[in-house]
Amino acid sequence: MARLVVVSNRVGPLKDSRKAGGLAVGLVDALKKDGGLWFGWSGRISEEGTFGPLQTESTRRVETATIDLNQADYDGYYAGYANKSLWPVLHYRLDLAVFERTYELVYRRVNDRFATRLKSLLRPDDVVWVHDYHFMPLGRALRAMDVENPIGYFLHVPFPGPDFLTALPNSHQLVRDLFAYDVIGFQTQRDVENFRAFAELELGGYVGEDGSVTAFGRTILAKAYPIGIDTEGFAQYALTAEAKRNQQRLMAALGGHTQIIGVDRLDYSKGLPERLHAFERLLENYPEHRGNVSLMQVAPLSRSDLDAYDKIRRELESVSGHINARFADMGWTPIHCMFRSFTRRALAGIYRGSAIGLVTPLRDGMNLVAKEYVAAQDPEDPGVLVLSRFAGAAHEMPEALIVNPYNREHVAEMIQTALRMSLEERKERWNALFKTLSENDSHHWAQSIIADLRQTHRATLAA
Ligand code: UDP
Repeated sequence: MARLVVVSNRVGPLKDSRKAGGLAVGLVDALKKDGGLWFGWSGRISEEGTFGPLQTESTRRVETATIDLNQADYDGYYAGYANKSLWPVLHYRLDLAVFERTYELVYRRVNDRFATRLKSLLRPDDVVWVHDYHFMPLGRALRAMDVENPIGYFLHVPFPGPDFLTALPNSHQLVRDLFAYDVIGFQTQRDVENFRAFAELELGGYVGEDGSVTAFGRTILAKAYPIGIDTEGFAQYALTAEAKRNQQRLMAALGGHTQIIGVDRLDYSKGLPERLHAFERLLENYPEHRGNVSLMQVAPLSRSDLDAYDKIRRELESVSGHINARFADMGWTPIHCMFRSFTRRALAGIYRGSAIGLVTPLRDGMNLVAKEYVAAQDPEDPGVLVLSRFAGAAHEMPEALIVNPYNREHVAEMIQTALRMSLEERKERWNALFKTLSENDSHHWAQSIIADLRQTHRATLAA
């Protein structure tokens, strides 16, 4: 079987499964299956940057190869174009997007450099799979160097409609570059439709009956492959000593109160201030919960060098401070906000000890926390998931209570519904959700896109 080569901004970890996210688990699994190479940024900044030595690490079947960035590349490619231009646009936040010509130039330069370094590692029969918004033009850069291997791409974040995306300078070029891939995977059918609409309306392309999209003389497969979690593995996490310890600590701290849990990187796409306001509305509208129900929000700082993230942190502090001052009583604080991270095992225990998982992003490619919350529940007494319609996960999880995160009144009402839900209904909803998660887990996700990539390539060769 041909070797799999994965390219993503951050690589690994291969060995320490405690640190591995759902993505890493799915990928490591796929890489191990046929043997593979995982290529990307080392996470380090050095003077030599992308021209520096290749850093490798290997286990029996999988090798990782990483390179550094220099400071200018980090500023332009990562902090600049990827995180200040693309991230906000792809999450429908044109108001926060920063467009600088140099960001874009450096982004393209870094993609070209990664392609050059990768090319020297490629074997003729490798299957290449590129990940996420950091590397949209990488496939095109490889093709420009006559790489003919099958190359697939998966976008982890949303793909907005053409009216939105065209606000990004040179969006035509960026989407045109995607046509260098053989298969493009999106999180949801809605993202696929937006991509097709862009191809048809903006690039003069057309959509075939089989779901293929043709433009610039290239026909590619664009399809939804919703990313899953390692469902079985995560359910097991909830039974580990570390999970139980955290669940017990939580129970002791709650002293019989009911807990709602939110877990999100501190990011403006996650709808955190809106969530706190909805919880405030719950306490206003249903006073019986005062003194009895609290919201714990875990929000590890991410990319704290960017102004937009400082702003959201300050806003969260101020809103939670206001709500706590307004409602707190002796022995009960409505909101516990923690700007720190927990291990995934600890999180599993915290999820299991919480009656409601409150996941209300304004926009999210998928949202793995929603899936982890469900996976960690006790099947005999499961909690309820309240989920934003704007998270990719909502497309697969209709048995959650689906909410509009912009509508406080509605979110408060749905929390109330969740708090009052009978055990029978909770179990019914949970069983349906868990079944979907088990069928569409991270292993299934990686296998399906790789299978399509191999298949598409064979079909192209035969043609
Ligand atoms: N996570 C974690 N520790 C924390 C908070 C989050 O390990 O303290 C993990 C969480 O378990 C999940 C991931 O970070 O796997 C977040 O993924 P998600 O898709 O929800 O959001 P993203 O951060 O990718 O936007």
